[in-house]
Parts: sequence; structure tokens; C-alpha cells
Amino acid sequence: MQPMGQLAVLLLLCLLVVTLPGARGRSGRFWHLTDLHWDPEYEAAVAAGRPCPSGSNRTRPTGLWGSYLCDAPWSLLRSAAWAMRSRLATPDFVLWTGDDTPHVPNEQLGEEKVLNIIANLTSLIKETFPGTKVYAAMGNHDFHPKNQFPGKEHRIYNQTAELWRPWLSDASLPLFRAGAFYSEKLPGPGTRGRMVVLNTNLYYDQNNETAGDKDPGGQFQWLEETLSNASRADEKVYIVGHVPPGFFEKKRGKPWFRRDFNERYLGIVQKHHSVIAAQFFGHHHTDSFRMFYSDTGAPINVMFLAPGVSPWKTTLPGVSNGANNPAIRVIDYDQDTLQVLDMVTYYLNLTRANMMESPQEEEFPVWEEEYRLTEAFQVPDGSAHSMQIVLERILRDPHYLQLYYEFNSAKYDLEPCKQDCRVDHLCAIREVDFIKYDQCVKTNGSASAASSVWLLVFCMFIGFLSPQRVL
Ligand SMILES: [Zn+2]
Ligand SMILES: [Zn+2]
Repeated sequence: MQPMGQLAVLLLLCLLVVTLPGARGRSGRFWHLTDLHWDPEYEAAVAAGRPCPSGSNRTRPTGLWGSYLCDAPWSLLRSAAWAMRSRLATPDFVLWTGDDTPHVPNEQLGEEKVLNIIANLTSLIKETFPGTKVYAAMGNHDFHPKNQFPGKEHRIYNQTAELWRPWLSDASLPLFRAGAFYSEKLPGPGTRGRMVVLNTNLYYDQNNETAGDKDPGGQFQWLEETLSNASRADEKVYIVGHVPPGFFEKKRGKPWFRRDFNERYLGIVQKHHSVIAAQFFGHHHTDSFRMFYSDTGAPINVMFLAPGVSPWKTTLPGVSNGANNPAIRVIDYDQDTLQVLDMVTYYLNLTRANMMESPQEEEFPVWEEEYRLTEAFQVPDGSAHSMQIVLERILRDPHYLQLYYEFNSAKYDLEPCKQDCRVDHLCAIREVDFIKYDQCVKTNGSASAASSVWLLVFCMFIGFLSPQRVL
């Protein structure tokens, strides 16, 4: 072969090595949507000029696409489906983390109504993504009476399993019927990815069915076994659920899990962190994240909390102005390692959407790109290490704090995030553990605004030196 020919072959080989799948990992994308909270009575309320049932008599809605004081009308859900189809019609899979029914008293619902709402939303998602695998988790509102999930077989679990049967493997079906949790290998040939879908409603402090149980449904033991097996099989795992551990960043001292359950969950993540690529949860309706640390204080895992589709303003006492713009999100990930590469959140400016004049039958308002994680926070990816950098940026730089805060409500609340707000958000992001969270807000919450800036910087410095992490 001529020298020029040899050179060409060499160049071709180099090109192949660089572009070969697996050389740098193949990247894929998936949707995460959560907290759709359909209010089937919204349109009738608008027509009759009376408050929406989910609005606690707070308003008479007029908006075609929804109202900040109400749950989602069907038009808003169809608009979200349209936005997802037009942005990314064929994702690798979809995560759907629950809460389908409106915020109304139990007396206005009932098993059949709840199941009917789950069935309608299941159909909408199936029609939006025909043939796509959907990993669905139950939210605390997807039961009757709400929150009261048992750690054993139940008719609602059975019926929901039937609705989700096209998405569940044969092995998942009996597991789902027994406790609404399951685990499956990700689609695609030769993948080493695994999805673990939890029913963390079993750990919710509003759930009287599981109070006093050590391990409701045996889910913790099952989770430990699943993660151990995944490790042995050299797999990487995403953990998905609705109610997250840790604290609500919009209300000081508000956790969701019972104390023991929170501790056990945290212990499992710490023990098995090397196999968990990331965690995806909902329930807050806000956009935030949670950090997990080793005993020596190294960031070992991250949980992404996705903003909700329903714009409903929370009635939780102590939360001021807790509504959000409807939002949906795409995650870019490495199909081999499951590392989160990037995340793009889309949102609907509801105020602007409602100004749209008499839209045609299939005309929808535009869901704009709100932000791309790597660009907005100047990090290379969505790994735990990078999210620790995001946290430190928010901690140190008021520009990033405000940016994070506006994303938190999908640009609904644009007020400045001042001292108390800052402590509430930063302590919630950083400390999933009950005791450490308390220490964090005590240390930082009582200080005056000026001195606490220095205190935070000082404590951050100490945090690097000492295994006990304080903000
Ligand atoms: Zn919800
Ligand atoms: Zn919820």
C-alpha cells in the first residue's frame, strides 16, 4: 500500500474509534412529567362563573388554559401533550411521577372517580407517545382516601396495574399489585440501565395505613436487594418516585416522610450510591434538587425534583405565593452509564397564554424553553459533582440564587429571594437528613442578613474540613 493510502486508512480508523458508539457513551433523551392534577370540573366552573372545585373557593376562573388558583383543565393537559410531541415525539422513555386527581376533599372523589381520572391521563399519555415505554409512579393523590396507601394488595393497585399493563413487564405486574413498586431493565439492546419505581407514598407522614410499620410492603428490603443485584450485574439505576425524602424548600421545617423512613431511605442511598445514577421525584410542584453526601462529606448522589404541570397555588399554611407556571422537562443522559448529561425545562407562561384570542381547534399556546441546566449554571453535566457546583454557585452568588429561585416556580414568582428564602432553599437542597436540616436552619436562620453571609461562607469552609456538613 502507498504511504498516502496507509495514511487514509489510519485516519479512517481514528475516525471510527472516535465515533464508535460507546467510545464516549451514546446519549439519549427522556421526558419527565409530574403532578398533572386534572380538575374535570374546571370548564363547567368557568361557564357557570363559579369557583373551580380545586380552588377552595378562592377564585372564579376565566382562563382558557388554567388558573393559578386551580388545578389543570383538560385544555392545559392537551397543550402539554402537544408541546411534548412537538419538542420530542420519540423519547427513549417517559417518567411520569403521579398526582393525577384535583385538590378536592375526599368526599368529592371516591375509588371510581380516582381510577377514572388515572385512566383518562393514562390514555392521554399513551396517545401522546404510542409505543413508548412509560415508567409511571403513583402519587399521594392517586388513591382513595388520598394518601392512605397500604403496604399490601389493594383493588386500586390492581386496577392501576391493569391500566398500566402495556408499560409493565410480566415480572412487574405481581409486584405492582402487591405494593405499587417495581423495577425493570431500560429498553434497548445490551443496556445496563435499570429503572426502579418506588411507592414512597408508603412513607408519607399523612399515611395512617403504614404508621408504625418498620418496612411497609417490604419495599426497603426489596430496594436493597434490587440495588445489590444491580451492582453485581454491573447495572446503573435511576430511582423514581412521587413523594421525596427531605424537606420542602418553600416551608421551613416541612418534611414529607416519617422520621424513621427518611433515615432508612438516606442510609440506602449512602450504602448503594455507586449504583444509583440519579433520582427523579415530583410532589413539590416546584423545580429543585437534593444533594446526598458520604460520611466524609463528598457529594455522592443527586435527586431532581421536577416542576408540576398543574399551576395550583398550594394551600399549605406558611407558604407564601406558592403557585407555579406549568412545566415539563427533557433529560439528556448517557445510555450506557445513565449519567445525566443535561436537562431542558419547558414552561407555559400561563398569564400570557390566557391572553390568546379565540384559538382554533388544534391551536395551542407555545411552551417556551425556560432553561438548559448546563448553560444556566455553567456546569458540564448533571452529575452529583456538577450539582454540588450548582449549589455552591447559588450559595455564593446572588445572581445564581435569583436564577435558581425564578426557575423554582417556572418563572411564576419573580420576587427577590432574600435571607429567609435563601436559608430555606439552601438547607433543603443540602440536608435531606432531619437532624442536619435542623442544624442548618438553626445555624443560619437566626443570624442577621449581613452577618449570615459571612457565616455561610465560613460554615462552607468548615464544611469542607469537617465530616459534619453545615451550610
Ligand atoms: Zn401534586
Ligand atoms: Zn403529591
